[in-house]
Amino acid sequence: MSLPTMPPALAQDWRQLHDLIDEVAVRRPIPCRESQVLHPDAWTSENAEDLAEAAAQCWRCPAVDACRTFGLTHLGEVGVLGGLTPNERRRTVREREAS
Ligand code: SF4
Repeated sequence: MSLPTMPPALAQDWRQLHDLIDEVAVRRPIPCRESQVLHPDAWTSENAEDLAEAAAQCWRCPAVDACRTFGLTHLGEVGVLGGLTPNERRRTVREREAS
């Protein structure tokens, strides 16, 4: 995947996450790369139903914890990360900040 222009801290965390994913992908499938059930585009779909189905597949991913941490740190407006849609990431961060 080519990296879009992004702030250095985000780019560093993105590279670390993808290095981890590449490492674990040798042993176990990464759903957003090679799901038998969904097309990889579901993870970045604008359709809420697609996103929910993709998010459900993330829970089988060996990198789900690191991916969710990345998503909650950097949020992002698009796509499922670590089993959470953008709305779920925003809600989770709001709830953490409120507690
Ligand atoms: S947790 Fe989900 S989005 Fe993240 S690498 Fe795994 S399958 Fe892809």
